[in-house]
Amino acid sequence: MSFESLGLAPALLRALAEQGYAEPTPIQAGAIPVVLEGHDLLAAAQTGTGKTAAFALPLLQRMASTEAGGKRRPRALILTPTRELAAQIHDNLRDYGKHLRISSAAIYGGVSMGPQVQTLRRGVDIVIATPGRLVDHMQQRTIDLSGVEVLVLDEADRMLDMGFLPSLKRVISALPKQRQTLLFSATFAPEIKALAMQFMHAPQEVSVTPANSVATTVSHHVHPVDAARKRDLLLHVLSQDSRRQTLVFSRTKHGADKLVRQLEQAGLRAAAIHGNKSQNARTRALGDFKNGRITVLVATDIAARGIDIDQLPIVINYDLPMVAEDYVHRIGRTGRAGAEGIALSLVSHEESGLLRDIRKLLKQDIAINEVPGFELSTPLRLDAQAPRPKQGQRQARPPRQGGSHRPHGHAQQNNGGEHAMGNRKRRSRGRRPAAKA
Ligand code: AMP
Repeated sequence: MSFESLGLAPALLRALAEQGYAEPTPIQAGAIPVVLEGHDLLAAAQTGTGKTAAFALPLLQRMASTEAGGKRRPRALILTPTRELAAQIHDNLRDYGKHLRISSAAIYGGVSMGPQVQTLRRGVDIVIATPGRLVDHMQQRTIDLSGVEVLVLDEADRMLDMGFLPSLKRVISALPKQRQTLLFSATFAPEIKALAMQFMHAPQEVSVTPANSVATTVSHHVHPVDAARKRDLLLHVLSQDSRRQTLVFSRTKHGADKLVRQLEQAGLRAAAIHGNKSQNARTRALGDFKNGRITVLVATDIAARGIDIDQLPIVINYDLPMVAEDYVHRIGRTGRAGAEGIALSLVSHEESGLLRDIRKLLKQDIAINEVPGFELSTPLRLDAQAPRPKQGQRQARPPRQGGSHRPHGHAQQNNGGEHAMGNRKRRSRGRRPAAKA
């Protein structure tokens, strides 16, 4: 299978060759012809499968092959849950479309509206937006969506999880009925199907990864360790190969910051990325990580969602996630596009139940190996009584100083979506702690 055989235009083929993409990934092979034929598409694919190019390439081709006609209103709208994803999709569109004359703009919260308004006023072909900020532009009448021919809902499940359904409905109702709609989601939960039924026209389905599966090139390892010794074990592991870029997951923002301070004290170059960090700080941390200025990036689940880092060799779970599905999302950052990856989790006795959930979800064994010198005082237990951290339990977190820590207005704008988790209805994920991360 080649990109040529999918019917892509020479200008796109050239850009793909320059990117070093040799052949389409399965989602690209499945989705691109369907989109080029003009059908609506329901695609089950998670980050790491090459899903962005699966919609970006045929979208660029369509934009390039048809006339804009009249004033330059956006002709395509891509909705995505987080700023980071919006920025990355924008980067990818620029890379893939470098030999075409298609303009695009990323519209997300956390930065001032002014420059976005000016860009929109000048006219762009493709808008990549987070739902909250887009609704703000609609309210201020700084965006005209009446010319949208193609709508892409990226990570639709995550947008619903983050409470964006009302914004989505509002945006979609402002779009022309006659349009092509592409919906990408890691899972096809009933809510996603309902969204598709309501807003799509006879969609074709493409599914490349069974829901909740991870790349087969990832090997999973667990080091059991007492909670009090996790930090030392992490330093030990990192010291084995300090040149490697390592993404470390922490369950809480406070825990992420604390860990970064400890890593820095130990002489490592580290930064944290989470919802309390400003957009600038997050972009800088991600940039520093990508160019190697820092070697350890400590992230919370929501902040890390969708961060696009090529071929990360190892992901470490400093804490296990409270919800097993988040393990799959975390691990999606390694073992991409055929590369080998390692997922290493440091698991204390108190997290035994979470490990049990993950093993059940993965339907595969995870190698559990004690590290000499870090033996557990209370062994893990993986039976039905396996303990799990209490709801909302934070590790070594000081008591909160009065008041609510929920933001007002669009949570996504103020806090990169992280707090929206605290607000959302917990439909099927009863165990997720309130106000996590
Ligand atoms: P995504 O699932 O869109 O987040 O893409 C995951 C990663 O795979 C990104 O870093 C892409 O640049 C990369 N990628 C996408 N398509 C291909 C391909 N056909 N060959 C190699 N890498 C790819």
